Amino acid sequence: MREDEFLQELKKININISDEQINMLKIYKNYLQSQNELYNLTALISDEDIYLKHFYDSIVVSKYYNFNDIKSITDIGTGAGFPGVIIKIFFSNLKVYLVDSNGKKIKFLNELIKLLNLNQIVTINSRIEDLNIKTDAVIARAVGSISYLSELSYNVYQKDLILMRGRKEEISQNLLNYLNLKIIKQEEYLLPVSKDIRNIIVFNKKMHNVKYPRKYVLIKKQPL
Ligand code: SAM
Repeated sequence: MREDEFLQELKKININISDEQINMLKIYKNYLQSQNELYNLTALISDEDIYLKHFYDSIVVSKYYNFNDIKSITDIGTGAGFPGVIIKIFFSNLKVYLVDSNGKKIKFLNELIKLLNLNQIVTINSRIEDLNIKTDAVIARAVGSISYLSELSYNVYQKDLILMRGRKEEISQNLLNYLNLKIIKQEEYLLPVSKDIRNIIVFNKKMHNVKYPRKYVLIKKQPL
């Protein structure tokens, strides 16, 4: 997808973008391409892939979830900043935490944040299970399984958990019952151009169950 096609597709789904945001995305794309080898960031590195499979695929979530309803969000396994940095560019008032266990990716993100002059955005080089922050929501694209992520990050999200994935995955009733979660949105859609299948699931935590999360070894051994 070229930049002009990207802008047209945003229009189709009623996402407004300013000249400043268009320019920020250009800077992001160029920096990603120039630093990719050094930091080992992504296999999708052509202009077309970046606009479609990183930028569009990240911001499309705002069609399914209202980020104006929350104040803070943690992007777990953010990699080269997807979707966390894109969400920050479009929702500048949000406090965003970018988490990844890979130190190289965090280094790249620190440089990117300076380059884009973003504030209220924090990087954390950590594994999910070692995090001790709390935010209104957690988001993750293409990371782990649903049961693993929802329990491991249970103490982080106070309200909503937003998972972006490829094909649909079964969600067990145990997971919903034990973690007191309710599915508030579950949508399958196709990316424009490539027609790749995507799924978005939004969970809301009705009430925190103090018995969870269990110890890491147990979560691995007996997923909900
Ligand atoms: N979310 C990004 C995207 O959609 O482009 C990156 C997805 S990549 C497939 C998975 C990322 O999760 C990697 O950057 C990896 O380092 C990170 N990751 C994997 N396990 C993790 C864990 N337990 N804690 C934190 N990050 C993790």
